[in-house]
Amino acid sequence: MCRDRLKKNYETVRDRIAAACEKSGRNPDDVSLICVSKTVDSDWIRWVHAAGATVFGENYAQELKDKKELLRDLNNVRWHFIGALQRNKVKYVVGDVDLIHSVDHLSLLNEIEQRAQKRGCVQQVLVQLNLAHEETKSGIDASELETFLRSFKDRPHCRCVGLMTMPPFHFTDPQLRAIFARLRVLRDTHARETYPGVELHHLSMGMTSDFEIAIEEGATLVRIGTAIFGARGT
Ligand SMILES: *Cc1c(COP(=O)(O)O)cnc(C)c1O
Repeated sequence: MCRDRLKKNYETVRDRIAAACEKSGRNPDDVSLICVSKTVDSDWIRWVHAAGATVFGENYAQELKDKKELLRDLNNVRWHFIGALQRNKVKYVVGDVDLIHSVDHLSLLNEIEQRAQKRGCVQQVLVQLNLAHEETKSGIDASELETFLRSFKDRPHCRCVGLMTMPPFHFTDPQLRAIFARLRVLRDTHARETYPGVELHHLSMGMTSDFEIAIEEGATLVRIGTAIFGARGT
């Protein structure tokens, strides 16, 4: 894709985010755009960065590592890890990203804790929930959330700053809205409790096809790839 097209796409997404905030009476500063750059050429990331983007989301540990290296001359770039994270890849991600969106298993959290301790850092994470009970999707069940949040107490090198979900692709708009509202209610409910190591602020929800609904339902982080970089894998 050409530089002008990417700039235009990025600006269109920003405008749509602003419009969704306006519609729902939210402050646009409370919604951060994560530009999902998985499989995207590093030059395209450069151009979107030049257009004003600062946060990029990656799904694959090796690709993240390669891109960080290729783009290390860029100022003011932050990276998030948003995809399914295998335990044996944790060491390539911890300390290299501001936020891991996809923590959905205690064994994964344990590995992050170990690696963060080794690196002498505190890794911020989100807990991923599977609210549609879809077998193929990752995420914990809502009934497991309390126990999961309590487990941060003994893992001082991990800090939970919110929740993430990814609804099934085939859901209708009302179904999507219900899922996003559910995540917000879970956050609000658990934010009233005290869990050491947990500060439930963020809601990571909304992608190209549904981010406006997600913003209306309270998203603070939207993860958008296709609307900026075009369709992947072609
Ligand atoms: C790929 C991906 C996205 C972006 O999806 P688009 O539909 O291209 O906007 C968002 N979140 C996660 C977890 C992804 O893997």
